[in-house]
Amino acid sequence: MLLTVLGCAGSVPSPTSPASGYLVTTGRTRIALDLGNGTLGPLTGHVDPFELDAVLLSHLHVDHCADLAALVVALRHQPRRPRPARRLPVHAPRGAARRLAGLYAAEPGSAATTDLTDVLDFHDLEDLTATPAVIGDLEVSAFPVPHSCPAFGFRVRHGDRVLAYTGDTGGGPTVRRLAEHADLLLAEATWPHRQGAPPGLHLSGRQAGELARRAGARRLLVTHVAPWEDASEVAAEASLAFGGPTELAEPGARHEV
Ligand SMILES: [Zn+2]
Ligand SMILES: [Zn+2]
Repeated sequence: MLLTVLGCAGSVPSPTSPASGYLVTTGRTRIALDLGNGTLGPLTGHVDPFELDAVLLSHLHVDHCADLAALVVALRHQPRRPRPARRLPVHAPRGAARRLAGLYAAEPGSAATTDLTDVLDFHDLEDLTATPAVIGDLEVSAFPVPHSCPAFGFRVRHGDRVLAYTGDTGGGPTVRRLAEHADLLLAEATWPHRQGAPPGLHLSGRQAGELARRAGARRLLVTHVAPWEDASEVAAEASLAFGGPTELAEPGARHEV
């Protein structure tokens, strides 16, 4: 299983990276985990969006979902491409169809701007820890995680390999279970550790490292550092707290899991 970082800037795009978005591929299957601002362009450099098997959105903050609206434009309006017979499955928190139609619409009123279901097939994300969703040759479990809105992390299994993605979260026992013995833990770390950070919203670099250590993850990939923070400081404290192989996500980087 191959993880490609489409964008990894935390909370907003940065001068050098789109916001959050990741492509996970096997020989058979192509899924996107989040499609934040600016991620559709890089995505099309790696896969034909008409050939995506599914999109999974961790939550509905725009830095994780904005380019789904751009994807609808691509699916609807590319000349010389027949509309695919199959609608693209989108697994997202409840309310996503209405929320994303609002993001897409230039003006309210017409069905074309208020309803995206001609090209997208929305599925409400629920707790999939007991029964993972099967997408091609991938098994995806969704873990509800604490954040400032309904949010999920994803545990993606291909054979005996596991990729765990925290999405945005302030951490907690569910996040620990999500990360348990992952071959690669893609963990958010929005800021360096400091007093006064709002609780329950995001992880610091140190907290992401502690998560990786306690969960027994094999490798840690730190992502979602806010552009106004010092990414090398965040990565250094994550590495120190983990004590295992730690890298900072970079746009365009590919990681074999
Ligand atoms: Zn975010
Ligand atoms: Zn968020």
